[in-house]
Amino acid sequence: MINVTKTFLPPQNEYQAILQRAWETGWMTNRGILVQDLESKLKSYLEVEQIICTTNGTLPIQIAIKALDLKGHIITTPFSYVATTSSIVWEGCKPIFVDIHPEYLTIDETKIEAVITSETSAILATHVYGNPCHVEAISEIAKKYNLKVIYDAAHCFGVTYKGQSIFNYGDVSTCSFHATKLFHTGEGGAFFTNSKSLNKRLFDYHNFGHQGKEAFNGIGINAKMSELQAAMGLAVLPYIDNILEGRKDTVEMYNKAFKNTDVNTLKLRDNTEWNYSYYPILFNDENQLLKIKSILENNKIFTRRYFYPSLNKLPYTNKAQFPIAENIASRVLCLPLYYGLELENINRVIDIIISEI
Ligand SMILES: *Cc1c(COP(=O)(O)O)cnc(C)c1O
Repeated sequence: MINVTKTFLPPQNEYQAILQRAWETGWMTNRGILVQDLESKLKSYLEVEQIICTTNGTLPIQIAIKALDLKGHIITTPFSYVATTSSIVWEGCKPIFVDIHPEYLTIDETKIEAVITSETSAILATHVYGNPCHVEAISEIAKKYNLKVIYDAAHCFGVTYKGQSIFNYGDVSTCSFHATKLFHTGEGGAFFTNSKSLNKRLFDYHNFGHQGKEAFNGIGINAKMSELQAAMGLAVLPYIDNILEGRKDTVEMYNKAFKNTDVNTLKLRDNTEWNYSYYPILFNDENQLLKIKSILENNKIFTRRYFYPSLNKLPYTNKAQFPIAENIASRVLCLPLYYGLELENINRVIDIIISEI
C-alpha cells in the first residue's frame, strides 16, 4: 500500500532520550524546557526573530484574528484547507472569498480591491502547498486600505521567498506541525510576527490572557504546546534536511515524468525556495481525475483530493461562485509524497498515471 503521506518517525530511543529531560523536571506543559528548546532551535533553523509554538495549527489562526481585533469582513481564499475559513467564522467574522490565480493557486491579488468595503478589516490568505502569495501586492493593498494581513502558512515550513523566511511576511503568519505536515510534533503549530507588541499579545492570548499568576490581559484561550509535543519536534528536527532531500528527489522524478504530458503541475512563484511539501497535479477534468484516482486505488495507491471542495461550498459560507477555485478543486489531486517513498513505488505511480491519461 502506498499512502498519500507517511509521518516521519524519529528513532524511538532518540525520542525517549529527549522525553527523559521532561521526566527529570516532572514538567509536562506550561512552556517547560523542551518547548523553549524547540522554539530556540526553530528560530535559528527558520531564521525568524520570534516564534511561539502552539498545540495545533488552527488555534493560532483564530487567536491572530482575535489579537488583531478583527471585525466584520475578512477577505480570504476559497482554495485552502477548511481551517482557514472556519477560523474566520468561528471568530464571528464573515469570510469574503476572492478567486484564485489559475496557475499559482494562491488568492488572485488583482481581484482583492474590488471586494473591499468599509466593513473589511483584513486579508487572510494561504500560501497554498508552500507556494507564496503575491506578498508585495497584498502588502500594498493592505497599506492603502489600512487592513491587517494574516498568512495561513500551514504548509510553509522552511520555505523562503526572496531570501528570507516566508513567515516574515504579513502581520502574523501561522504554521501547522500536524503529523501529516513536513515538520511535525504530532499535533502542533506556531505563530510568527515581526512586531514585539503583537508577539506579546499573541503570547498572552495563547495562555488564557495570563499576566503573571493573578492578572489578565484580555480574553485568552489555551493553545500551549506541551512538552510531549515539543519532544517529538526536537527528535524530528535533526532529520529535516534529510527529509527535504528525500522529498526533493521524489518531486524531481515526478516533474521529469509529467513534463510534456497532459498532466499540469504546480507553478511556483519566482524567487521561492520551496519545501516539496505536496505534489498536486491537475487533470483535464473531474472525470479524468475520478477515473485515475480509482485505478490508483485498485493498485493500493492512495492519493488525496486536496483541496476539495472549494471552501465557498461549505455549509456555513455564502453560495457565490468562484469559477477558478471550483474548477481547480474539481481536478486537483495530491500524489504520494513522503520521506522514504521507494523508487519503484514512485515509478508505479508515474506509470499508472501516464498510461491512463
Ligand atoms: C493543516 C492545515 C491547517 C490546520 O492545521 P492543524 O495543525 O491541523 O490544526 C490550517 N490551514 C491549512 C492550509 C492546513 O493545511
